[in-house]
Amino acid sequence: MNKSDSERIAGILSHFGYEETDNEKDAELLIINTCSIRQLSADKAYSQLGVWGKRKKTNPNIKIAICGCVAQQDKEGIKKRAPYVDLIFGTHNIYELPSLIKRIENDEKVCAITNTPVVCDQNDFEIKRKDSVNAWIPIIEGCNNFCTYCVVPFTRGRERSRRPEEIIKEAQNIVKEGFKEITLLGQNVDSYGKDFEDKNITLANLLRQLNSIDGEFRVRFVTSYPSDITDDLINAVDECDKVCKYFHIPMQSGNSHILEEMNRHYTKAQYYEIVEKIRKRFPDVAITSDFIAGFPGETEEEFQDTLEAMEELELDYSNTAAYSPRVFTKAGKMTDKFLPEDVKYERLNRLNEKNREVCLKSNEKFIGRILKVLIESKTEKDGKTILNSRADNNKIVHFEDSTKNIGDFANVKITKAQTWCLYGEPV
Ligand code: SAH
Ligand code: SF4
Repeated sequence: MNKSDSERIAGILSHFGYEETDNEKDAELLIINTCSIRQLSADKAYSQLGVWGKRKKTNPNIKIAICGCVAQQDKEGIKKRAPYVDLIFGTHNIYELPSLIKRIENDEKVCAITNTPVVCDQNDFEIKRKDSVNAWIPIIEGCNNFCTYCVVPFTRGRERSRRPEEIIKEAQNIVKEGFKEITLLGQNVDSYGKDFEDKNITLANLLRQLNSIDGEFRVRFVTSYPSDITDDLINAVDECDKVCKYFHIPMQSGNSHILEEMNRHYTKAQYYEIVEKIRKRFPDVAITSDFIAGFPGETEEEFQDTLEAMEELELDYSNTAAYSPRVFTKAGKMTDKFLPEDVKYERLNRLNEKNREVCLKSNEKFIGRILKVLIESKTEKDGKTILNSRADNNKIVHFEDSTKNIGDFANVKITKAQTWCLYGEPV
């Protein structure tokens, strides 16, 4: 979501005579788009601001801006810690940038943080997409779920779906521009459309509409909330040949008591059922997940359930993190249940080890199989050109083929599996 926001920010600025530079030192305007999902990412943002603050001392003409979730959540902290910052703007204020930029150009210090979004038709502005193959489209912003560990509902606000016609128009432009993959984004994509009166506006129907756009491209969607995945969505994924057979469904914990403490609305057994249902329908599907190690009060036995779930469910890949207390959140206030850092990180290490083991097993299943891939980049190695691609099910596949280029689709027979990727040959 941050990457997508950054592309939109760069696009808006291009309407006002700004262009991106590859050399940060040449920049007259420096913007840091921040994430506050964990403390580490927020700390990184402050440390980058410090570097820029020093630069501003020798070059007072540069302007410094900070946006994203840290800005949304901690404007007073930023003003105190980094008084040299010219512009602080929140996650709801991106489309206000045209007027904010004019004000800082006139040497005003500006702070634009609102709790409700400044809305516009996003197609009115250019989007400076970074990738030449994949294009991100946010379909729903914010989150209503309030998982007890998570800061997102506080930094991104309540769920707001974008109008389907706006999304379709953006997708049509993307396909015309030559992109080969569209990734629909949302904290909980299954909630798409629930805030509209028209009950036909659903993720499933959006996929059907996107599938009917002419051209050779594929569509993904992230992130799915386990208990919100509907049969209609599964049917739509099945019906639509352009939609990848891939689901990112964060489980967070393999223990039902911890899931309840996290305010996740499903049990371990319900998560198992949804995975089973999807695997039955799509034999080649990849299912990936997110897990948190060391949630407040998590016992060793409860953590063991997470390791067990990762293995039993044969999850294809998982993002993992040690629990990081966040302001405003319920779990962040459970200080008497916080686990010592060494316990959290020791569990995280074991979780990562299990992840590696399970990913390798998942990759090995594909040896001898033919996968349709999309070529994303090329690497020159020992006089050879290696094509780096991604299969429909999100597996990374490397192969050699001098006849193919970035943005081409290819069929590849898998010959070797490693923990994080597959190798193959063209067929
Ligand atoms: N909307 C998605 C997740 C968005 S946040 C969902 O519901 O699954 C991305 C991931 O960051 C989460 O899945 C979670 O695993 C992790 N995360 C969020 N808050 C965290 C925290 N306080 N500490 C550690 N990891 C966290
Ligand atoms: Fe955070 Fe939960 Fe919303 Fe995901 S569903 S963004 S984890 S509150």
